[in-house]
Amino acid sequence: METSLREIIYRYGGGIRNGKGFKAASIGGAAGAFVDEAGLDVGMDYDSLRDYSAVLGSGAILVLNEDASIVELLRGILHFFAHESCGQCAPCRIGTDRLVAILDRFCSGEGSEQDLDLLLRVARMMRDTSFCPLGQSPVMPIESALGAFKQESLDYAATRT
Ligand code: SF4
Repeated sequence: METSLREIIYRYGGGIRNGKGFKAASIGGAAGAFVDEAGLDVGMDYDSLRDYSAVLGSGAILVLNEDASIVELLRGILHFFAHESCGQCAPCRIGTDRLVAILDRFCSGEGSEQDLDLLLRVARMMRDTSFCPLGQSPVMPIESALGAFKQESLDYAATRT
């Protein structure tokens, strides 16, 4: 607790392979947040992460090097939520499918910036109306990814056309 992400990666984790640079880390598992370089010195504890609009969650830390695509990782996370949705309530049953459809289209190069805004609106609606935490969870990875990596996501989509 309170150890910084930088220390965890570079002191205890042995750094990033092949001398690659740091791009981001996904903290707390699929329902957690992406943090960019500005988050490297945030302490890994409940209060510090909450102040940073992130969560400790499961405690998982996934470090992404400079070559990783944040939007592709986000796409994998959204597929996971759609697969895990039990279908009992409409906001999550329909919402997870919509999130996947929107980001699949975006990643194929057929989407636009408006799709990213729509993604966020759907996820916020799900947060406010879903019956259990699963449907309330996609909003954090989406908000954090689009907060710090929106332009990168748009650049990525532009290469897919
Ligand atoms: S929010 Fe929970 S109850 Fe509703 S469909 Fe998703 S997993 Fe099922």
